Amino acid sequence: MTNLQEMMTKACKKPIAQCTDGELYHALLALAGEMAKEKESSAGKRKLYYISAEFLIGKLLSNNLINLGIYDEVKELLEKNGKSLAAVEETEPEPSLGNGGLGRLAACFLDSIASLGLHGDGVGLCYHYGLFRQVFEKNLQQEEPNPWIEKESWLHKTDVTYPVLFGGFKLQSRMYDIDVIGYNNRTTKLHLFDVETVDESIVKDGIDFDKEDIKKNLTLFLYPDDSDDKGRILRVYQQYFMVSNAARLIIDETLARGGDLHRLHQYAAVQINDTHPSMVIPELIRLLMERGIRMDEAISIVRKTCAYTNHTILAEALEKWPVHFLEKAVPQLMPIFYELNNRVAETCADPTVAIIDDENRVHMAHMDIHYGYSVNGVAYLHTEILKNTELHNFYKLYPEKFNNKTNGITFRRWLLHCNHELTALIESLIGDGFKTDAEELEKLAAFADDMSVQDRLLAVKDKKKAELKEYLERTQGITLDENSIYDIQIKRLHEYKRQQMNALYVIHKYFEIKAGKKPVRPITVMFGAKAAPAYVIAKDIIHLILCLQEIIAKDPAVAPYLKVVMVENYNVTLAEKLIPAADIHEQISLASKEASGTSNMKFMLNGAVAIGTMDGANVEMHQFVGDDNIYIFGESSEAVIRHYEKADYVSRNYYENDADIKKAVDFIVSDEVMAVGCRENLTRLYNELLNKDWFMTLPDFKEYVETKERIYADYEDRHAWAKKMLINISKAGFFSSDRTIAQYNEDIWHL
Ligand SMILES: *Cc1c(COP(=O)(O)O)cnc(C)c1O
Repeated sequence: MTNLQEMMTKACKKPIAQCTDGELYHALLALAGEMAKEKESSAGKRKLYYISAEFLIGKLLSNNLINLGIYDEVKELLEKNGKSLAAVEETEPEPSLGNGGLGRLAACFLDSIASLGLHGDGVGLCYHYGLFRQVFEKNLQQEEPNPWIEKESWLHKTDVTYPVLFGGFKLQSRMYDIDVIGYNNRTTKLHLFDVETVDESIVKDGIDFDKEDIKKNLTLFLYPDDSDDKGRILRVYQQYFMVSNAARLIIDETLARGGDLHRLHQYAAVQINDTHPSMVIPELIRLLMERGIRMDEAISIVRKTCAYTNHTILAEALEKWPVHFLEKAVPQLMPIFYELNNRVAETCADPTVAIIDDENRVHMAHMDIHYGYSVNGVAYLHTEILKNTELHNFYKLYPEKFNNKTNGITFRRWLLHCNHELTALIESLIGDGFKTDAEELEKLAAFADDMSVQDRLLAVKDKKKAELKEYLERTQGITLDENSIYDIQIKRLHEYKRQQMNALYVIHKYFEIKAGKKPVRPITVMFGAKAAPAYVIAKDIIHLILCLQEIIAKDPAVAPYLKVVMVENYNVTLAEKLIPAADIHEQISLASKEASGTSNMKFMLNGAVAIGTMDGANVEMHQFVGDDNIYIFGESSEAVIRHYEKADYVSRNYYENDADIKKAVDFIVSDEVMAVGCRENLTRLYNELLNKDWFMTLPDFKEYVETKERIYADYEDRHAWAKKMLINISKAGFFSSDRTIAQYNEDIWHL
């Protein structure tokens, strides 16, 4: 684009050199918007609607410039004028429209849908404050609102609005669109619905607000605190608002394209991302009936339109809404819920597959499975567990509905954007075909033993480690030792992900160093994690990690060898800095509990080596790279499932029979930790580990420690390590979301 300079100068209304970074950001925003318009979406008869309560899209500027093919040109132009694209990028706020993996997956999927040129849009909610911003005070997590919507942003106001009826009142919606720019391909849309009556001023004191004032609070926060009924019923309002708008949009677009609602399934495929959008099923049925279609037929149409993705086997995470919530929030759906329930009950007496249970709760996943045409898990192991254990009774009813779609990540963001140096190295070795066909990474395997390639790869890693050091120093006041091993665990805080096991390892190492057993090379154990505001033990684990960070930093005998770092407010932007810099990544969930994981894929692609359990997509990663290139430990998923069935795990036995475990666990309530922490939090965590430890931290601890020692020792053979890095990168192709989306389309959507 020869006139880039002209366009920029015009958009800024002054020479580039005189613009602030913020002004340049807004100019580029406008420019990308213009270019996106020229590439408007492809058409096909059947259109996908990917409905999700979360889209953790991350900052968009650089990614969009890459996908438009003008990144290098813009970067050069700015440099020529004494400006830096990286600095411009830092002025962009990160939209906080998701929690973690599930929302990030939805964002990667949109990128791949656009890049593959498929006909499909995302539909969600426009949360004003999204997920909270995390700050640490006195070694505790505090939550603050996280405003991200600016006057000029990627959001485009549309004139699509719908009246949405709730029990006793009506709200008018408004649709906002974000362009999703595919890689050298088409543009699709992310549709985010909002209400105009939302009032940000009702938020007081952290993230507290009146949960009953639905008109003012509906789209303020993602997953407001659900520790009480008021918070839980607010989620029902949010979910219905999301799907009612989605359903109307689907019907309107189908009619506008000349479609016939009797054959809606030929015009629309609806992917229900986890159970949050499940009410789209009864809502579509209701709207079809409103338009004169009889219930029998409406049900049969919807059954051919909707498909469900399961993301968890944690029973407590499968949504079950009390009938009285639904009666209050969405009374118009009640006759349909009852009808759907009765139809199931007539053909199947098994109470475990009922939609409404004997405690009068509506099981959203059950409704999705009965009234959708596809049920998919998100990694091989996860889908097997669904079929054989968690959803076995459904699998017996509908074996043909079950299928696996192993998750993936978009390589545009998680390699091209976040690691230019590695991208360039790969390109110099195997050409640029991997950018559109990820399987081409396999060609790198030919260089696995090439010492000069190994050296170049290690040099890239060193550069990214130094960059992370600079970034954390500047933005969070954290100092890293770039010559240490960066051992990183970043993900939502949850007991099943077992950050507490990593923390116990830190304690163990701390004792070893104090006793004179110093590691060959300093170790930096990094964490990044937000805990749900009402998840007490998760917050206690953060507290423990922050206490350890302080104690170790202040101990001159230990600090040169071991450092604990908990980055504040872990989000996509931080992930993009941390992942390219990682030497080792922790994927240590209790086997059978992590549905897939996707950070494991991002790390692998960036040449980090995993220590992990045979859980989620780790199983497939292990299969691809082999025993030499991933460090597997811990009980198998079968063994874990058996423990739960027999209820035979007693944590105290491990504590009492193993001196190392006892010493590490006892340290949590030692005077040293109490001196920098809160007695209440630490005691609660200690008791939890000792008396419950529901996610079985202690049985895997010994083997975890041994495996960590092995991986740290292996790190010292730098060339052998570089080979492991290369093999990991070369086998990452399978985990491209382009592959995942192609499979969804092939098996489920048929667009
Ligand atoms: C990829 C990603 C996740 C998911 O991480 P897991 O380790 O797979 O749970 C969560 N948060 C952010 C910001 C991510 O980028």
